[in-house]
Amino acid sequence: MEKQEMPKIVYRFGDGVYLNITNRCPNLCVFCIKTKWHMDFHGNNLNLQGREPSANEVVAALEKELKKAPFKEVVFCGYGEPTMRLEVLLFVAQTLKGWIAQAKYPPFKIRLNTNGLGNLINHKDIVPDLRRVVDVVNISLNAENEAAWRRIVRPADGYENGYESVCEFIRACVAAGFDKVVASCVDKTGADGKAVQKIAETMGAEFYLRSFLDAQN
Ligand code: SF4
Repeated sequence: MEKQEMPKIVYRFGDGVYLNITNRCPNLCVFCIKTKWHMDFHGNNLNLQGREPSANEVVAALEKELKKAPFKEVVFCGYGEPTMRLEVLLFVAQTLKGWIAQAKYPPFKIRLNTNGLGNLINHKDIVPDLRRVVDVVNISLNAENEAAWRRIVRPADGYENGYESVCEFIRACVAAGFDKVVASCVDKTGADGKAVQKIAETMGAEFYLRSFLDAQN
């Protein structure tokens, strides 16, 4: 029987150190690679199998990884929506801010990749708390209107009207003054990329067109 690699809480990609704190997400995007790539990301098994790490476990895994090689950013990413575990996210990001203040590592940024539903998920405005500990926010906008958004991100019950909440979240992040706020769209999903770009830029965010990823080679 093939040996299953242990799930990674922390993994590397490019100049970044990525954090996989949950596999849960209220969306089922047509472009999501977590099922298509069988929970693997470039040789990293990201399948937590329902055992989400505690904040202390994430910090311990980070301490081990960060000393191994240089990095430019630490990214809350997934496979899953990081704001599903807001308390863990905030604790770990606060710890990272402490390390930055102590110059424990060369300067780096703290980034959150999110589907923009964090306010709905947590039933409150999470932007002020994020602003204290996160530098860069990348938000999946994905569509030019609610109907297209529903078709593309396939939200769970209770999140069907989430498009306006995502837009509000983007506007609030821009107003809060993060170092950078990026709103993204994925190509080949049927979204009107030009219209999404215009909406993103009108809200004051940078726009990023992500490639639709096919099966992993
Ligand atoms: S929001 Fe992200 S994790 Fe959730 S289904 Fe979409 S691509 Fe996958």
